[in-house]
This record gives sequence, structure tokens and C-alpha cells, in this order.
Amino acid sequence: MEDAVVVGSGPGGLAAAVTLARAGVRVTVLEAQDTVGGGARTLDLGLAPGVVHDVCSAVHPMAWASPFFRAFGLDAHGVDLLTPEVSYAQPLDGRSPAVAYRSLARTVEGLGVDGGAWRSLVGAASERWEAVTAVGMGDKRSVPPGLGTPGALLAAARFGLGVLEQGTRAWDRRWRTPGAAALLTGVAAHSITPLPSLAGAGTALLLASLAHAGAGWAIPRGGSQAIADALVRDLRAHGGDVVTGVRVRSRADLPAARAYLFDTTPRTLLDVLGDEVPAAARAALRRLRHGDAAAKVDFVLDGPVPWADPDGVGAVARAGTVHVGGTREQMVRAEAEVAAGRHAARPMMLVSDPAVVDPGREVNGLRPLWTYAHVPAGSDVDVTEAVTAQVERFAPGFRDVVVAARCVPAARMADHNQNYVGGDIAAGAVTMWQMIARPALRANPYRAAGGVYLCSASTPPGPGVHGMPGFHAARRALREVFGVRVPAL
Ligand SMILES: Cc1cc2nc3c(=O)[nH]c(=O)nc-3n(C[C@H](O)[C@H](O)[C@H](O)COP(=O)(O)OP(=O)(O)OC[C@H]3O[C@@H](n4cnc5c(N)ncnc54)[C@H](O)[C@@H]3O)c2cc1C
Repeated sequence: MEDAVVVGSGPGGLAAAVTLARAGVRVTVLEAQDTVGGGARTLDLGLAPGVVHDVCSAVHPMAWASPFFRAFGLDAHGVDLLTPEVSYAQPLDGRSPAVAYRSLARTVEGLGVDGGAWRSLVGAASERWEAVTAVGMGDKRSVPPGLGTPGALLAAARFGLGVLEQGTRAWDRRWRTPGAAALLTGVAAHSITPLPSLAGAGTALLLASLAHAGAGWAIPRGGSQAIADALVRDLRAHGGDVVTGVRVRSRADLPAARAYLFDTTPRTLLDVLGDEVPAAARAALRRLRHGDAAAKVDFVLDGPVPWADPDGVGAVARAGTVHVGGTREQMVRAEAEVAAGRHAARPMMLVSDPAVVDPGREVNGLRPLWTYAHVPAGSDVDVTEAVTAQVERFAPGFRDVVVAARCVPAARMADHNQNYVGGDIAAGAVTMWQMIARPALRANPYRAAGGVYLCSASTPPGPGVHGMPGFHAARRALREVFGVRVPAL
């Protein structure tokens, strides 16, 4: 008999497995796909020899900042997080782009009359990023240890006020230029919600604060797989194992174990365990609402993206991440279209050229380009042309450097990761309610039944490669099933 079985090898599942294995529990991870890592996989898509793509996540502020990964030590486990000089950029039609440098001072200077407003909102959060992270990555059920000082509590309160401001119609009051407003909105749009929204503002302030701290919006050398592989190595070093190519569909697919942790959606857990989950918990777990979606387009280019450079600074070309969506108003319109179930003519998009910081990603003069566009849930539209046109809008000549492209429409996203239902890459809509009541409003959002836990992004603190749902769930399993106490992070 295994001590514990984890279903799914995403960062949540692997973080859970590592936490259990380090506490002396014998763990086996069962993964449906042929490779490990879930949303942290880097694959050869067969588009060009040797060129590999991040099929889901690519940019990792949350990995270096997460309490789980800080305790784990990505660096000590061989993950080389590369820090772009420009964390993210927001190209604008016919005017200078807005730019978030890793350096706060440089960002403030570049934003001109809005520099002070950026410093007092984002800069203040950035200076107290540990407190901000403690709030953002906690289990939403307990006071995280990171909030143990008056200074940290004050920073958390300021963060909350900032969320209220930037998550409501008050959000325009602070900014005098379109650049700064667009710069923060590009980050808020990660939440794939109508804007402004409280969840979008929380996302924006957390991620924007991390852009000016630590490793910034880091890109792992070689791709996101490096993070998953480091976790797997540690798991094996502690006696655990991962078995790939095993899709758990029913109880019969599960070996006997004292504890089961599901790095899946609640729906998958219920499909597998059915009536073993008490009726009240079943009803609660069914309440998780999925959100709108992303359609992925991976390109191979024979040169860098020729971003327009109206001010001659060339900052967009040095950015690890580019938010392509134009002004705040244009992004608001695009997200409103998606929320109304329509495809935006000019969709909100994220773009990353990892070779900007990791030249090793370029092979024989060819490099990967990672993009995704926001689309309505379940869309089966191939968005390659819409995405190409959006990049071309800010990078004339883009089409000429494209050698190959491959789209995974939102409706096909679950083919390579069952958790992304209808292309919902957050495994549950990112609303303020669902950031707390995720998957439902329960005292223990991880526990589904005796010895059965969820440890995926469908539980707090939600999406991102930070491993925290896995840590929070494993900590509960250790206490409740194995009688082992692990301190909170
Ligand atoms: C296109 C895209 C871009 C993203 N960009 C970023 C980014 O840049 N930075 C960032 O931090 N986050 C990003 N994310 C989000 C991030 O990848 C996820 O939030 C994160 O991976 C969630 O981790 P998880 O452990 O909950 O689940 P996942 O990483 O989704 O892993 C779940 C695993 O469980 C497996 N599984 C599911 N059902 C079963 C079953 N029945 N049997 C066996 N195995 C099963 C799946 O195959 C998968 O391997 C992105 C996601 C996508 C899709």
C-alpha cells in the first residue's frame, strides 16, 4: 500500500508530493500525459528541429516569490531563473510604449508625470513584496506567518486599498497618461475577466510588485520544464516516484493508499470517487465556475520580433513579456467582448520571446515565440491570424520572420491538460469570490472527503506556478492523515 497517491504532476501536485515525501510519506504521482509538469512543461512540438516551446506557463514571478519555492530553493535545485531587464512592456499605437523595468527607479522615470503615482502604488507594494505575497498566496483561511509584523500588516492593508482603487471605476483617478494606466491594465488582464475587477486588480498589484523585486518576471533557463524537473528530482531523492501515461478515470485506477491528493479540477475528483465524497461536499465542489479562456499560438521565428521603436529606446525588444492589447480602453473593450461570448477583433494577448534572456533557446537561427489570446470559453477558433495581425500591429514585418505556427484553440486545451476545461487556464474563473471561495466556501477548501484532498489551482490561492495549493493541501493531509505537523509558510 502506498502512503499517498497524487493524481496529476502540475506544480501543485508536485509541490504536494515533495512536501509529503520530505515528511517521510511514500508518494506516487500518477500523470495522464506522457511527460511531467502539467502547466510547467516545455515540449518539442515538431515545428523546427531542436526548438522547444512552453506549452502553458513561460514567465515566473510567482515561482521565485512563492513561500513554497523559497523554502524549496529553486536555485539550489539547479533552476536558473533569468531576469529580463524589462519585466513587461505595453506597446501603444503611434506613441512610446509603457515599460515596467526590473528597476523601479527606471520605470518611475520612464512614466513621467505618472511616475510618482506608480511609485506610491506599485513601488510601495514591491518594497513589501513578502507581505504582499503572504496575502496573495495564503490559504485564505489563516493569517500567514509573513504577516506577523505591524509593517507587514500595514503593507497588506495598503495593498487592499490599492485593489479597491484599481478594481473599481475609481481606477482612472490615479493616472494622468494613457501609458501608466495601460501598463497596469495589461497585468490586470491576466485574470481574463471584465475590467475593472477586484480580482484583476489583485492580480495586477501582486504581479506588478514582483516585477520590481527579486528575480522579477523571471524566465527559467531552458523553459518552464526546469521547474517541474527540479521538483521531480527532489521527490525521487526522497523516495517518491512519478508514473506518466496513467489517466485516472475511476476508483479502479487508484492504488490503495492512505491519502489521495488530486491536482485536478473538483469535477475530475468527483468523476473518480463519486459517492465516496459525502453529499454536502459533492454539492459544494460542483459549485466551481469555470472562466473564459485562452487560445495558444506557438510560433517559430527566424529572428526577433521587429517591435516598432518610436522612441528609439528599444525597450519592447528587451522585454521578457509583452502585453499586446493597446490602451486601457482598448483592453477593456476586448475583455468585454470575450465576456459577452464574442471574439475580439483585436484580442488581449500575452507574448514572450524567451531568447531575449536565454539565447540558448535559439537553435540554428530559429527561436520559439510564446503567445496566447483571450477568447470565449470553449472557443474552437484557430486564432493564428488574429494573433499574427495583433503582433504585426505593433511590430510591422512580424509576418516576415514567422517560419511556423501552431494554434491550440481553447476547446482543445484540455486535450493536453484535463484541468483547462474549455480553455480556462486558471482551472476556475478568477473572480474575487472564487479567489477566496475556491472551489466553494468551505472551512477547509482542500479536503473533499476523509483522506481525499484537492491540491490544484482550483483551490486557494488559485492559478500560477507557485506550488502553494499543493503545499497547503499536503500540510493538511500530513496533519489529518499522518499525524505530522509541518509549519505554515
Ligand atoms: C497557456 C498558459 C499560459 C500560462 N502562463 C503562465 C505563466 O506564464 N506563469 C504562471 O505562473 N502561470 C501560467 N499559467 C498558469 C499555470 O500554468 C497554472 O496555473 C499551473 O500550472 C496550475 O498548476 P496545477 O498544479 O494546479 O495544475 P496543472 O499544472 O494544470 O497540472 C495538472 C496536471 O494534472 C494532470 N491530470 C489532470 N487530470 C488527470 C487525471 N484524471 N489523471 C492523471 N493526471 C491528470 C494533467 O495532465 C496535468 O499534468 C499558464 C497556463 C496556460 C495554460
